[in-house]
Amino acid sequence: MWRRKSPTEMEFNTIRVMIRIYCQQHHEPENELCADCSDLLNYAADRLDKCPFGEKKPTCENCTIHCYQPFRREQARKVMRFAGPRMMWRHPILTIIHLIKVRNEKRNTL
Ligand SMILES: [Zn+2]
Repeated sequence: MWRRKSPTEMEFNTIRVMIRIYCQQHHEPENELCADCSDLLNYAADRLDKCPFGEKKPTCENCTIHCYQPFRREQARKVMRFAGPRMMWRHPILTIIHLIKVRNEKRNTL
């Protein structure tokens, strides 16, 4: 699931980094992620794989379809709220690419 360099892969890398930051601060996992957070990451990967926009996918923040189940969405929102600002310091390039993409999309929809 990490093979393609595509919008979905970018998005997946971003969420993977965020979940890892969140999990390490909250759950002190023995491995990279605790069981709950691995579940969430697998869920996110599965959603991305099935994303109807495919390679033309917008970032999930700007997406018009909210495809997550309410429970997963709440989980993902918590992770992003916590990890978003922290990601800037650990993965500045990834964060900047992501932010530019979000901004361009917003501009295009005006
Ligand atoms: Zn965790």
